[in-house]
Amino acid sequence: MKNIKNYNFEDLKEELKDMGEKPFRAEQICKWLYQEKVQSFDDMTNLSLELREKLKANYTMCNFNILKKQESKDGTIKYLFDVLDGNAIETVLMRYHHGNSICVSSQIGCKMGCKFCASTGINFIRSLTSGEIIEQIIAVEQDTGERISNVVFMGIGEPLDNYDNVVKAIKMINHPKGLNIGARHISISTSGLIPKIYQLAEENIQCTLSISLHATNNEKRSSMMPVNQVYPIEQLLQACRDYIAKTNRRISFEYALAKDNNDNLEDAKELVKRLKGMLCHVNLIPINKIENGKFDKSSNENIMKFRDYLNNHGIVATIRRELGSDIDAACGQLRRKNL
Ligand code: SAH
Repeated sequence: MKNIKNYNFEDLKEELKDMGEKPFRAEQICKWLYQEKVQSFDDMTNLSLELREKLKANYTMCNFNILKKQESKDGTIKYLFDVLDGNAIETVLMRYHHGNSICVSSQIGCKMGCKFCASTGINFIRSLTSGEIIEQIIAVEQDTGERISNVVFMGIGEPLDNYDNVVKAIKMINHPKGLNIGARHISISTSGLIPKIYQLAEENIQCTLSISLHATNNEKRSSMMPVNQVYPIEQLLQACRDYIAKTNRRISFEYALAKDNNDNLEDAKELVKRLKGMLCHVNLIPINKIENGKFDKSSNENIMKFRDYLNNHGIVATIRRELGSDIDAACGQLRRKNL
């Protein structure tokens, strides 16, 4: 059966037309799905019984089951969702003063092989559909009864390796008939798939692009992130400059600091040279050690020195607040699980 949440508003109108229904039903259905967040076609009470039966016979609503829910002492919640095909993914809700952010997964597993990330030590199974990406948000809102105002594609998977579904999901997350979350409140993080960065620049979506940089030269970056062997740093940064020129949007660079690896002042100096003059922001992440991982977290002192060096040399840098590390919900700690 088809997942009704895989259809964007316009596609749903077409589906309904094909079923001999009036297209305005799409508006009613979207309201039930994305605003009321009902879990059954039976609850769509302004549709005729006949249409509800037709929908039930042809579509699923893709309601994820919560297999496990862990709450951190800082209020962060990590969900393990059953994606209904024998696989499970993780999604994290982070509560900030300025509102709730959700960190969604885009794939079941990841192909990128970054040496410091737990999502990678597992096999890649498949990409999530747009409906499965959206369902993570709906399921968390249903469970908590709280509104989510920010979405970050920083869970399991490489979002730009699932380009079409991720872009489709973003459009529906943003759409007034969908979840109606402002595009500026949506971020995509990528390990640096250059052709897809160029493609994204053409989409005219106002979301934020984050680049996982983590190192300032090819030797070091390739040792941490195999993707750098295909898309080296000079070309990646050129793609970023071109993205900024095309979209006028600031790019956010993620830089996870690992002790004695990429956290000394020489690295900071090199980073300043690389980013000088670019419309960007650097997000420093204290690296989270993963099982059997060779990277250790930098000391707080080093992290602050690194930040201060960047800020004093014209690069705006902040340290990402670490949330949920006591429940393995922090950056790099999410994993796919088999049921
Ligand atoms: N695949 C995408 C999005 C997922 S990860 C990407 O690579 O950008 C979200 C961020 O967490 C990325 O910047 C990633 O490099 C970072 N990250 C991964 N493992 C980490 C770890 N152990 N400690 C800190 N950050 C980590």
